[in-house]
Amino acid sequence: MNENMGPPPGNQNQQGPQVTADTIRNAKTLKCEDCGGMIFEEKILIKTISALLSPSGKQETAPIPVMICNSCGKVPRIFDPQNILPEIVKCKIKKDKDSSNKEK
Ligand SMILES: [Zn+2]
Repeated sequence: MNENMGPPPGNQNQQGPQVTADTIRNAKTLKCEDCGGMIFEEKILIKTISALLSPSGKQETAPIPVMICNSCGKVPRIFDPQNILPEIVKCKIKKDKDSSNKEK
């Protein structure tokens, strides 16, 4: 048994569509959910991991790069698919209609 599961080394031929200026022009521009801004800036959010949960047994800091809207400073929710950022830094969920989620 000498199966090689991975691709052969040195194989850099990538097949697929090439990204051209047209491709980018026609691509959807991601907009801030709050203000519609299209320019984003990378910032760092720092989480502290308590000693109990840290593998080293000591309190540790975990810097997390986030993209914030250049206009309103919020993080579009699409950038936080795992929902790890505090709600306060993220765009609000827009409610077009009055959502009456009253459970009986
Ligand atoms: Zn914004």
